Amino acid sequence: MIKKIIAFDCDSTLSAIEGVDELARLAGSEIFQQVQDLTNQAMDGKIAIEEVFGRRLDLIRPSREQCEQIGLMYLEQIEPTAKKTIEALHQDGWECLILSGGFTPCIQALAQSLGIEHIEAVPIHFDTDGSYLGFDQDYPTTRNGGKPEILADLKSTLSPDRLIMVGDGVSDLETTPIVDQFIAFTRYAARPKVTEQCLFEAQELADLIDLIMDNFLLEKTIRQRSYRARRANLIISELSAFGLSLRTRSTALRASACLNPSAMRAISASLEASVRSSDFSHV
Ligand SMILES: [Mg+2]
Repeated sequence: MIKKIIAFDCDSTLSAIEGVDELARLAGSEIFQQVQDLTNQAMDGKIAIEEVFGRRLDLIRPSREQCEQIGLMYLEQIEPTAKKTIEALHQDGWECLILSGGFTPCIQALAQSLGIEHIEAVPIHFDTDGSYLGFDQDYPTTRNGGKPEILADLKSTLSPDRLIMVGDGVSDLETTPIVDQFIAFTRYAARPKVTEQCLFEAQELADLIDLIMDNFLLEKTIRQRSYRARRANLIISELSAFGLSLRTRSTALRASACLNPSAMRAISASLEASVRSSDFSHV
């Protein structure tokens, strides 16, 4: 059976909010302003994620209870088409996961409501009374290049036939070389650095179904075209071996460059006929 995996960013993708900003808001307006500035600079690719990660959490020091409050906000502001899209993807055999630079205890409720079991996000450590102790500083999504690192690991352990990433930030765009398809999600945040470099863009999650099909058709066309180009080259090299004129070969080359299937069929037929009618008894 074909193994298909699709990874979703969480903040400004599955839900309208940026969880870390909301946590900061709970910590007071001054801390909120500082944290939001740091987040925006990181998401716009102006400063490295690892530079802001610890600084933000040192300012906020979120408790378990506050993380659960953010979990409820993610649910209240869930992307309106997320549930039905993920249901449809599950039905079509896609394994869905959340890949986030956010915090695991904040994301759990949203994941559960979407029927997603696999969460890749930053673990937070709490004391027995629920107060903040720290975060997993080694977790890959605390730094730039963390998301591609996790997807590369996942590729080598699970060997999926298809791997897709959906998200709004530069940290999501970074997965492009690893995945079969990166889809920029622009409903909540259209970041120029991301939209200028992506091939696919979704304004709501329901668009994903069509975009996945578009990419499948595009790849199929490229494969067919490269098959036709290879076939044309094969014919030409065979003709060269038979010593046919340079003119005949260059005509075939020009035709193969346009890669039109009916033109290729006509050329193949006429070249084969000319080969058949030639006297190759000397070969
Ligand atoms: Mg995001």
